[in-house]
Amino acid sequence: MKLRLKKLIKDNNASIISVFTLIMILSLIIIFIIFLTSTISINNQETSILNDKNFEYHIEDYKRNIEIISYNVLNKTINDHIKTREASTNSREEIKNRLNNRLKEINNDYYRNYNIKIDSNVLSVNNDDNPFNINIKVKLNFEKDNNTYSTIETYKISIIGLEDPLPFLKLKNSDLTYNSTNFNYHNSLNSYLNEKSIDGSSYINSSSPLIFKKCPYEPYEIHGNNLSYNCIINNYYHESHDGSCIFCRLEGKADCNHYGLETFIVSCKNDKNKSISSPDHVIFSDNPYEGDKIVINDKTFLFLDNGHKNKYGFN
Ligand SMILES: [Zn+2]
Ligand SMILES: [Zn+2]
Repeated sequence: MKLRLKKLIKDNNASIISVFTLIMILSLIIIFIIFLTSTISINNQETSILNDKNFEYHIEDYKRNIEIISYNVLNKTINDHIKTREASTNSREEIKNRLNNRLKEINNDYYRNYNIKIDSNVLSVNNDDNPFNINIKVKLNFEKDNNTYSTIETYKISIIGLEDPLPFLKLKNSDLTYNSTNFNYHNSLNSYLNEKSIDGSSYINSSSPLIFKKCPYEPYEIHGNNLSYNCIINNYYHESHDGSCIFCRLEGKADCNHYGLETFIVSCKNDKNKSISSPDHVIFSDNPYEGDKIVINDKTFLFLDNGHKNKYGFN
């Protein structure tokens, strides 16, 4: 009897140990499974956050690049018209179409490289309050997997550093030459004015800036002789209600209703006291008017009407 009881206790002990071991193993497996699933879900979460961040990054990158792309499209448009000497018939519409086409190419690259679907639509290309800028409005739609993002962005694109197409479009293929900073008109302006029965001899071998640069001497009335000389040798442009804006310059127009730009066409002839007024929009306008000679130095002369004398502080 004693022996049987002992065996029973021993057997019971054995089964308690094996049950306990089983429970331990099972809990370990459960803990392992829980650990595994939670790691997988953390990993999934991380990938999805990473994807979002990539999506955001590409959107910001794309939006930033539109400024550079627009500047390049504007530059190319100007250069193409300079090459052909043909004015644009509708420069805003032309730039809009060119930019839309360029963005389509870039959108295809984004889809190929990052699997992001981009829908872009240039809504408008227009004047800015600052005539050294243009305004571009673009509607954008981005889509990747379940992520979408839509926005309408407005960009101010500077025209500083671009070439002025107006003299090329007005004088076509006459003996107009230019270097990296200036036009040299040789006899081209003289014959252009002669065709309008105007004496243009003061503008033989005259020169003017090639590249849009903003004059820093503000207000403009402080120019006078000294600053006008600096302004001329630095090839600056000025804001002007009468001078044409970049869009109208591209269309071969010297004046327009938009807030625009003007620069001096500088004479090197001292033999006349009066000649056509030197701002480019006067010389290239349909009805050029005269101004009085202003001696900047012994080789540099301007002719300015009263309006422009006042504007640049010569009275
Ligand atoms: Zn100036
Ligand atoms: Zn205009």
